[in-house]
Formats: sequence, structure tokens, C-alpha cells
Amino acid sequence: MADNAKDRTFETAELPEYRVEAYVAEVPVPEYMESCVDIPTFLGYCEACPSYEKTWACPPFDFSVQDFWLGYRSFYMSGKKIVFDTRELGRKYAVEDFKEISRQILKKESHALEDELIKLEAQYPGSVALSMGSCDVCGEAGCSRPLGEPCRRPERMRHSVESVGGNVGLSVKKYLKQEIQWMSEERLPDYFILMGGLLKK
Ligand code: SF4
Repeated sequence: MADNAKDRTFETAELPEYRVEAYVAEVPVPEYMESCVDIPTFLGYCEACPSYEKTWACPPFDFSVQDFWLGYRSFYMSGKKIVFDTRELGRKYAVEDFKEISRQILKKESHALEDELIKLEAQYPGSVALSMGSCDVCGEAGCSRPLGEPCRRPERMRHSVESVGGNVGLSVKKYLKQEIQWMSEERLPDYFILMGGLLKK
């Protein structure tokens, strides 16, 4: 493996071929909170993450997460299953190449899902989208939170499902009827699954 493999960015044409399948479900918020929300446990996971306190999308928050959920009537879940072409599955990658390929695909499809959910907000007055992972809207400029400054793009920043205590793995299984697959360090899984959502009034 080349020393600079970790710095390599793959062109779209070099990425493995895949298709994206959509899965959706909607449940009342009290039911979702009962079955899939565990605020203290997920706050613990967030505290162990390097993004904790580093972006405005991540905990700790200046609002009650419990009350945040209770401010909405139903939770619409939107999952995207990124299914790799079977010809790609046997391909073995250098570990750093594999990480970079996975990162690029997940980033591209997360952004597409986030765009979709933010557009959906316009159709449901008072709704709010929940996204995936930490916020990278400000790119290389980094988040303003470590500078003690307000969020630069509040119209674009959304909290992730996990950051407010939602268990995505369980939600995918229980409501989207799909199984999460865990990655090895050098081979593609059959698929990745991303899940975001929309909290409706
Ligand atoms: S939009 Fe920018 S400032 Fe706001 S949370 Fe995201 S990275 Fe931070």
C-alpha cells in the first residue's frame, strides 16, 4: 500500500457500483420514544465521540431532548439501503482505500438524504428533519462552536437521530424491516443502510 493511500480521494468513476433502495415508516412519537429512544445511553455514546461539544448539531444541548421529542406528533423514518453490485463484493481493498471509499459513498448518500428530508420540511409546516452523524456543513472552515460563536448555518444544520437518543439500528430492524450489516476492514458489506427522519407536528 502506498504511504499516501489515506490521502487519496477516489473519483466517482472509481467507486464501486451500487444502487439505492428506499424504505420508509411512520409512527406516533410516544410509540417511537417507548420503543427506540434511550437518551442517557446515546448521550453516553456521544460523550465518547470526538464531535461531542465540537459542533452545534451534537450534544450537549441547551434544551431538553425529552421535551424536544414531545413537541411533535409523529416520526417519519427514511432509510436508504446502498446495495453494492455483486461483482464488487469479492473485491479486496487496502484498508485505507476501503475506509476512504466507504467514507465517500456514505457522505454522498447522507447529503442526498439530508437534502431530501430538508425539502420535505416545507411540505409539513412545523416539522424538523433529523439527519445522520455530525454536522459538516461548514466544511474545511470547521464548526463555529469551539470558537464560542453561534451556528453559521442554522437554516441548514440538523441534529442526527442518535444525537437526540434515537436508536437507528433498532429502528431499521423494527420499522424498516431491514438488518444492519457490520463492515469488515477490507471488504464491502452487501449493503450499507442510512436512516434519517422527519418529526411532524
Ligand atoms: S452549520 Fe456550521 S456552524 Fe452550524 S453546526 Fe454545522 S458546522 Fe457548526
